[in-house]
Amino acid sequence: MPTCPKCGQQTDKPIKTWVLAPKGKKPLNIGLFKCPNGHYFRKAVI
Ligand SMILES: [Zn+2]
Repeated sequence: MPTCPKCGQQTDKPIKTWVLAPKGKKPLNIGLFKCPNGHYFRKAVI
């Protein structure tokens, strides 16, 4: 479960996810999360 980098709250599911695929690198699944305190942050999800 990802934690907010600003307040450390655990956040269960992303608002949205997308695939980030830089050239020559492995594609990553990125999720946009919103913590219970209203902070938005992005994190790679598996
Ligand atoms: Zn937060």
